[in-house]
Amino acid sequence: MAHTIAEKIHTQLMAYLEEVSQPLWTIKPSKLGGRGLFALQPIKKGTLIFKNKPLIVAPRTDRAGDCYCTVCHQVNKACRPCELCSLAICSEECKTSKDHDTECNFITTNWKPKPDSVNDIHHPEVLARMQIYLRFLLLKKDHKLLLTFLQNNNEGKFLELEMLHRRHVVPDDQITFMKLVHSIININSFRIPNNPLDGKIPLRGLYPLSAFLNHNCVPNTRNVFYPDYTMAVYATKDIEVGEEILTCYTGLLLCTPARRCFLYKSKHFWCKCERCKDNTEMGTKLSALKCFNKECVGILLPTSPLNPEAEWCCDNCASKNTPDEVRTIQSILGSLVGSLDLDDQFRLEAAILARLANFIPYSNHIFIDLRLRLALKIGFTEGLKLNELSESRLALKENLCRGTLRTLAALGVGDAHLRGLLLYHLHAALAERARRSPDLYEEIKSEIESTIEQAYIILQGDISAPPDLELRRRYLGPGCDKPQEERFFILDA
Ligand SMILES: [Zn+2]
Ligand SMILES: [Zn+2]
Ligand SMILES: [Zn+2]
Ligand SMILES: [Zn+2]
Repeated sequence: MAHTIAEKIHTQLMAYLEEVSQPLWTIKPSKLGGRGLFALQPIKKGTLIFKNKPLIVAPRTDRAGDCYCTVCHQVNKACRPCELCSLAICSEECKTSKDHDTECNFITTNWKPKPDSVNDIHHPEVLARMQIYLRFLLLKKDHKLLLTFLQNNNEGKFLELEMLHRRHVVPDDQITFMKLVHSIININSFRIPNNPLDGKIPLRGLYPLSAFLNHNCVPNTRNVFYPDYTMAVYATKDIEVGEEILTCYTGLLLCTPARRCFLYKSKHFWCKCERCKDNTEMGTKLSALKCFNKECVGILLPTSPLNPEAEWCCDNCASKNTPDEVRTIQSILGSLVGSLDLDDQFRLEAAILARLANFIPYSNHIFIDLRLRLALKIGFTEGLKLNELSESRLALKENLCRGTLRTLAALGVGDAHLRGLLLYHLHAALAERARRSPDLYEEIKSEIESTIEQAYIILQGDISAPPDLELRRRYLGPGCDKPQEERFFILDA
């Protein structure tokens, strides 16, 4: 009978999958814990492994304080609480929608307000925080069954429920169910990327098959989220038969101590992958600190990165430092970065950057992150569009993109989403250079074409993809037969 649970999962999952005729994957126990997805046949880089529709999509609870509509999810200052249920609503259209009607009815019938909570100004916010749980409560019975196959973890407080309970009478069976949901979504839900142009609050979703993807700091897949919130998973490199299909729950460019700490706090496990074991992180030295010995030019790296209590050693003078000393420096770094105005890239205080440089080499993930932000902003900020950039800023953008692409390549993350984004920006810088100096075009044409083509392959269809991705590919990608002047007209728009 051992296989029946897997069969049950498969049957239940089919309703959420598209193109299931020949699945490339199977669900099996994983040595990483619980169950995982494994390749049934060799999967080539770039292959779509599966698509799944979300079981539930809802705004992220950490954004519940923002003013947004609980129906269309638009950020809108004009939102008002519904007089029946107190959920924030932007318009008459949203108020009379079927979606609101269902949730409104559920709240008013099930969650009776306690006497002194009626005029509580925090009431809409508390309900906004609970909206994801509300949507789970409203699922059909067989969909709820899917939840029982997913891993859960009970660690961590359920503050939202306490807040709701203070203001409403909530039936016991609903409390039990919401606690289960809480322990499942904490470790299994995915952040859905945001397109800043559509003005919506960031969302997260629970995907019945994606939930089986385990973590690796060098994953072999990337996620693509379509506008209807369907999630597609593509291979970012070749995957062998029997190999586990893996995703990454953290930022790819965070250093090992920061990634491991995040994974432990939010997902309750200590990662022990190859990247975490290598104290240089494939030579990128993302966690390196400058040697504490002022005369020394060496860098400090952990002697045993899987052990947070291990010493850090200098690669030049061999001095050893305790993890406490290292943590003190890391917390100073944290507060220095916290005092930077990261939205104002062009006035990042030189004094703070200079202080950072006292403690960390340029390979450190803090500098890598600042350079990445700068690379993406130059030429894409109001008042500093590509055609307004000085020659030196344009060259800076190009160099920053190339540098970060080299770091990604060293990590071995293949065609990750971030690689696509950086290729798009590198293309934009190169195309701008060719537009300004048409004589240069022939020389850099093949790189202009290949960067946009690769960016397109990686990013196409994703909600957060740059809006002119397709247009650029059509006019500046390979195989365009338009004359040179015409190819660049789209950049003047
Ligand atoms: Zn609305
Ligand atoms: Zn209502
Ligand atoms: Zn790892
Ligand atoms: Zn040293």
